[in-house]
Amino acid sequence: MILQKPTTRRQFIKGAAQACLAALFAGAFPDGATGADWRQVALDRDRWLSLERASTGEKATFLYYRFGRGFDPEGYLTACHLLRDVKSGVAYRMNPKLIDLLYIIQIWLRANRQPFHIIIQSGYRTPEYNRTLANAARNSEHVNGNAADIRIPGVDIATLNRLALAIGVGGVGIYPNNGFVHVDVGRVRQWQG
Ligand SMILES: [Zn+2]
Repeated sequence: MILQKPTTRRQFIKGAAQACLAALFAGAFPDGATGADWRQVALDRDRWLSLERASTGEKATFLYYRFGRGFDPEGYLTACHLLRDVKSGVAYRMNPKLIDLLYIIQIWLRANRQPFHIIIQSGYRTPEYNRTLANAARNSEHVNGNAADIRIPGVDIATLNRLALAIGVGGVGIYPNNGFVHVDVGRVRQWQG
């Protein structure tokens, strides 16, 4: 299992790509008003993601998409493993768009030299587990493999919320009392928990 391998930071931080992205995203908060679609620019490359699972402490930095070739099965499965229902021990085929969304959040933060360590509070939930949660919607996008609750140490959740809204994909819910932001790739909507 790739989770046990040391991270490949030399590959992860490719100097030229980093400089290019930093120039593209420099300074401005993404609001969709700048010429080239910065999200597409971010997607048009090998896609690396670095995630940690809060409840287990598992961490991985992995390539999940090879530019020009598509999703990397091992990387994709690593993401699904980290986003699994830890309580039930069930992994699920997560929506690849959700993995891209986490990647875009991370690459924007990296390019803007901000902390970018994404911690997963919740990912997939079995319907059974979801039903045990007092505040979870019955038709939660977590049950469909479309959602994650995340936080990033060093980035306040208001900023993370704003970034997720600027990306403009799916639902974004901010939970100030719990200290996380819910992101999903379902219908576009916004709320405060
Ligand atoms: Zn959620």
